Amino acid sequence: MAVKFKANSRRWLTLGYNPLELEKEIREFWETNQIPQKLRQLREKTNIGTLGYVEGPPTLNGVQHVGHARGRVMKDLRYRMKAMQGFYVTFRAGWDCQGLPVELEVERALGVKNKKELLERVGEERFIEECKKTVMKYYREWRSADRKLGMFMDYDKAYWTYLDDYIEREWQYLKRAWEQSLLGEGYYVVAYCPHCQTSLSNAEVGLGYEEVEDPSIYFKLKVRDAENEYFIVWTTMPFTIITDMMIAIHPEAEYAKVKVNNETWILAKERVEPIMQKLEVKDYKLLKVVLGKELEGIKYEYPFLDMVAKQRELDKLQLVHTVVCEDFVDISTATGVVHLSPGNGEDDFLAAQKREVPIYVPFDDECRFTEEAGEFSGLFARDADSKVVDKLRKMGLLLSVETIRHEYPTCWRSHHKLVWLARREYFLWTDRVNEKVVKAAENVNYFFDSPKNRFLSFLKEGKPWCLSRERVWGAPLPIWACGKCGAKTLVASKKELLEKALETPSQDFELHKPWVDRLTLKCEKCGGEMKREPFVLDCWHDSGASPYASFTDDEFKKYVPVDFLVEAID
Ligand SMILES: [Zn+2]
Ligand SMILES: [Zn+2]
Repeated sequence: MAVKFKANSRRWLTLGYNPLELEKEIREFWETNQIPQKLRQLREKTNIGTLGYVEGPPTLNGVQHVGHARGRVMKDLRYRMKAMQGFYVTFRAGWDCQGLPVELEVERALGVKNKKELLERVGEERFIEECKKTVMKYYREWRSADRKLGMFMDYDKAYWTYLDDYIEREWQYLKRAWEQSLLGEGYYVVAYCPHCQTSLSNAEVGLGYEEVEDPSIYFKLKVRDAENEYFIVWTTMPFTIITDMMIAIHPEAEYAKVKVNNETWILAKERVEPIMQKLEVKDYKLLKVVLGKELEGIKYEYPFLDMVAKQRELDKLQLVHTVVCEDFVDISTATGVVHLSPGNGEDDFLAAQKREVPIYVPFDDECRFTEEAGEFSGLFARDADSKVVDKLRKMGLLLSVETIRHEYPTCWRSHHKLVWLARREYFLWTDRVNEKVVKAAENVNYFFDSPKNRFLSFLKEGKPWCLSRERVWGAPLPIWACGKCGAKTLVASKKELLEKALETPSQDFELHKPWVDRLTLKCEKCGGEMKREPFVLDCWHDSGASPYASFTDDEFKKYVPVDFLVEAID
């Protein structure tokens, strides 16, 4: 070995150059002589300054691919450069261990089809064990790949997102949000994956747009107190007509009443020509033009009153199945008449809440219609599309149906089409501190514009972060609620939990389901029993919390904000 490092050695230029052999020799030299450890110790003692570094942790649900390797090489080069310049850098490894990516990998290995089967056939305890085994399996793969890359990372001080001490740090961080009312329960429309049976955050929705096929239909909704008068509506999600509650038009836009055969159709004036062309209607006559706001309050005949008893009941309410004015209605596409399903859409939901119209969400966890959906009960949401189209056709309300291909959000892990559902979830109300967040993000020095713009524009949307997941392998949401008076409390550490718990935990207790769920607390307000809210945290919160959770308080003060981060776009 030594001879190779002699100055002017000619051996480097011979034709016998064998990179793999050379690499092996150098790696063995580093390992035998513990070079990474020695470099770290040296810089800890003698340095010209300290630089914080936080590893954006790889998820241990698969092997390293070339994109990962590229990121790791960048991180390692930067570390070596800074270390050679004389800095001490906290170049610690970190491993993202929990969440859907790992769960789905384990589900596949166990041959489980869905969450229900998982809970019934496998059970939570065994499932957690299997998740840990999977994590360790991929950890070994990653270490072996890192070894080949010659990474100088500090693996001894690595953080693991599934360990109790890490979860406790997340809990402490959440406690601060809780105390500032930045964390709380909300009823809101969230993206939901029917396969994984959990909600997703907006960031996750952004990860999974795919081109999919959907029905595209034009249909009529009859004005109640007028003869043969109809609103013309377009949708690519026919199943949402089952949960339809209102139709929206733009108050300031012009709407046309058009004579077609013996009927009068109402749609945005500037859309008349393209829609008539689309529907191949040659003979039509413009009767009248009115402003959107003049149509407000008109009641229309909801088509499925006879099939959905609940809708018949809701129909008696004043604003249900009437025309409302909303500025978000886009009159440059479709018909300028938008049907609203508050249980299945964010704008729709807000429009209903504003008017105190009830939110009708007749779905179970598998996204199947419940008894409340009458004749449609038992059908999976998207499977109801064809039945809805059939019914409309039989009632003479269907104008056209075709299949279109368009970009639609799918689950970033299981690739199923997402459904929007109003659900009870826990949110980090990041929108309330958004100015601060955006300002901090703008102060970062980015090396590339495209990811910078993407990141900032996402932050500027400022939507609340849906933090709760209805899954198993994750950091438990540390909130207990009283069954009697509804009071809630957030527990911020294992010690606090064990002190307050009414039960004595088993020997193998850890901060995961099902163990945490077995502990109940006594309500300080009324003496009632408090049970844990059954959610786990979004796994992006695990990795996202790492600048805080991977350090102690002292370290956090010293190393954060960090000097350098490498992130990839999935
Ligand atoms: Zn999914
Ligand atoms: Zn209570």
